[in-house]
Amino acid sequence: AAKSNGGNSFQYFTPSMQQNAVSRMSLISDLRIAIAANQFQLHYQPIVNLITGDIYKAEALIRWQHPVRGLVGPIEFIPIAEETQLIVDIGDWVFREAAQQSARWRTAIEPSFQISINTSPVQYKNDAFSAKDWLDYLDALKLPGDAIMVEITEGALMEYGSSIDQKLFDFRDANIQVSLDDFGTGYSSLSSLKKLDIDYLKIDKSFVDNLAPHSNDLALCEAIIVMAHKLDLKVVAEGVENEEQRDLLIAAGCDYAQGYLFSKPLPAIEFEKLLKSR
Ligand code: C2E
Ligand code: MG
Ligand code: MG
Ligand code: MG
Repeated sequence: AAKSNGGNSFQYFTPSMQQNAVSRMSLISDLRIAIAANQFQLHYQPIVNLITGDIYKAEALIRWQHPVRGLVGPIEFIPIAEETQLIVDIGDWVFREAAQQSARWRTAIEPSFQISINTSPVQYKNDAFSAKDWLDYLDALKLPGDAIMVEITEGALMEYGSSIDQKLFDFRDANIQVSLDDFGTGYSSLSSLKKLDIDYLKIDKSFVDNLAPHSNDLALCEAIIVMAHKLDLKVVAEGVENEEQRDLLIAAGCDYAQGYLFSKPLPAIEFEKLLKSR
């Protein structure tokens, strides 16, 4: 279960453990203390501008340094965090941590630096979630909205629809950009893309994996890119692992790319070294 995403070898909470009530309860109680005990960390993966080659955007990806189980990846605990609503506090932590990091890199390295964070529809649906608190936090750090971008999956947006629209509009009003993650897997309508005033589409890795000249996946990527540009959206391709994929995406007019070809997600200190070395 755990290893399919990213080749990371986290495999501490296996599906059978998750189905086991006792280990599930211990996972939940461990999760409850993880924030206070400072066990979460963000790793950063560069989002490469395919025209200029710069890496002034990064996606923040959460990891959990569990005291006994070691480094646990998000697909092993985000679903349970969502079920228990713990995702609201975890999501607030991710936002604050990313905002602080963005402030540091904007001051020290690149004034336009932007960090993209993943958000769950469960956060937006919970009454404890406050878009205003996030905006106040940015103000306190003297950061403009575009120091942060929020990602939401296409599937989540379609499933929860209008109950989260308003919060995304609050972000848009504050100049926080919105990115539709895993695009192509969630059957969104073209009208919803227009209505929500989204800034970026992230083409799901499953379309990038088998990119080859004259392939159906290339035709799909080309069509998504043309459509996105007509709607004034930028396009990020996810999961780019080799030069052929990169070159086909450049030829198709794709704006940005992420993937192991450029870098795996890195701890902040290593990401900063990468930034400075360029
Ligand atoms: P995502 O947002 O679609 O993130 C992309 C995933 O693909 C990441 O896995 C990343 O490490 C991996 N990846 C990037 N480039 C490549 C590549 O070239 N090849 C391969 N095989 N994989 C690549 P990761 O870090 O395990 O995250 C998995 C998912 O967990 C994310 O998918 C996102 O949906 C969720 N997630 C991560 N961090 C957070 C968070 O802070 N909050 C919430 N709500 N969800 C999060
Ligand atoms: Mg993402
Ligand atoms: Mg994605
Ligand atoms: Mg994905």
